[in-house]
Amino acid sequence: MKKISNFKIVGSGPTGILLSLALSKLNCNIFLTDLLTKESLINKDKTYAITHSTRKILIKFHLWNKLKPFLYGFNTLSISDSVSSSFTNLTISDLDEDIRVVNNIGWVIKHCDLMKVCFEEIDKCKNIFFKSSKELSQERILYDYRFISTGANSVDKRFFKFLSLKKSYKQSCLTFKITIRGNTERRAYEIFRKEGPLALLPLDKNLYQIIWTSSTKKSLDRLKYDKNLLIDNLSTVLPAQFKLDQIIGEVSIFPVSLSLNLPIFKLNRSILVGDSFHTFHPVGGQGLNTCWRDVNKIFDMFNNDLSFSDLNFKLIKFKYYFTRFLDIFTIIFITDFLIRFFANRNLILVPFKKLSFLLLNNFLIIRKIVLNQMTKSIIFLTIK
Ligand SMILES: Cc1cc2nc3c(=O)[nH]c(=O)nc-3n(C[C@H](O)[C@H](O)[C@H](O)COP(=O)(O)OP(=O)(O)OC[C@H]3O[C@@H](n4cnc5c(N)ncnc54)[C@H](O)[C@@H]3O)c2cc1C
Repeated sequence: MKKISNFKIVGSGPTGILLSLALSKLNCNIFLTDLLTKESLINKDKTYAITHSTRKILIKFHLWNKLKPFLYGFNTLSISDSVSSSFTNLTISDLDEDIRVVNNIGWVIKHCDLMKVCFEEIDKCKNIFFKSSKELSQERILYDYRFISTGANSVDKRFFKFLSLKKSYKQSCLTFKITIRGNTERRAYEIFRKEGPLALLPLDKNLYQIIWTSSTKKSLDRLKYDKNLLIDNLSTVLPAQFKLDQIIGEVSIFPVSLSLNLPIFKLNRSILVGDSFHTFHPVGGQGLNTCWRDVNKIFDMFNNDLSFSDLNFKLIKFKYYFTRFLDIFTIIFITDFLIRFFANRNLILVPFKKLSFLLLNNFLIIRKIVLNQMTKSIIFLTIK
């Protein structure tokens, strides 16, 4: 009989939790842990835009149908630039044929719904053990592999010799939900402004998640506003057709950064996954989708053969970092370029901004490349 492997997953955010469900299909025990309790892990006021690459991954791990009741699809993506007063609307007709039939460009899901469904699935798995860090430290388990999914800024660099790149945008995101009167469209918005992008993700017919990027100082000032003043402030920067009603729930602030951590100098049995491996600017909503493509890669590598020799177990991480590089580099390049190009006060760039929208509005091939890269990613065809 083949030996059952013991895997430890440190960090039970959306990356760690999907990784545990994916690896539970293999001949292994999974010890999942977090500093937070299950309730605190579920009850976070966050929202994610979900792409077609993620849809494929969630179908593969039998989660798509379970999450479907909580997903709100959008069939139009409006991209505009307030400086050059240009805009374009990308629609499902701009999608590649293979995904057009799904009738959505992307979906939006609340963190709490996502985590609730995933924890329900974990409870059904006999080989996933969710324990506190303290409980796990008291058990003498020999782990065959450790996966670190502890999020951005959480990895202790003393333990992992890193090749580490980090860029702070000196920006933060203000996030909150808002109801909008008279809205009937299933449309998401990305509005490029001098101070940074402003995204509106539809959560229901009249409910939107706002992700408002600005300098950290300005975001902190806005965080202190009373909700009515914040609505007034937002209405001055949104197109006139938006009739803002009221803010629902809390207003939160998140720092934004671009980072890449590569702990390649040590031959050990551990891998960084998700935000502990890379972070991006939230423009385009690529973060979690890329984290889950890490999970997909890890599953594929371990699914091929679990009976690794010691050396293979140690070497597998190089294969993982190497094969993930192109996808991650593409996302880094695109998100960073968008911020440099559009969140910019330089007047010389205005004609180039106008030209880019002119091209988008007049050439189907360019619209297709932009939209399909955003929602499918460069590795779509390799997700099996
Ligand atoms: C404003 C904003 C908007 C975003 N919008 C989108 C979007 O629309 N679409 C999208 O795809 N992505 C989006 N993202 C990115 C997305 O939120 C992240 O990529 C995602 O949350 C990363 O998940 P994770 O599980 O890797 O990390 P996290 O969600 O940070 O989870 C890490 C977990 O590890 C735990 N932990 C930390 N240290 C330890 C330790 N020492 N021991 C045990 N546990 C530990 C933490 O408690 C936490 O539960 C957005 C990000 C921001 C900031």
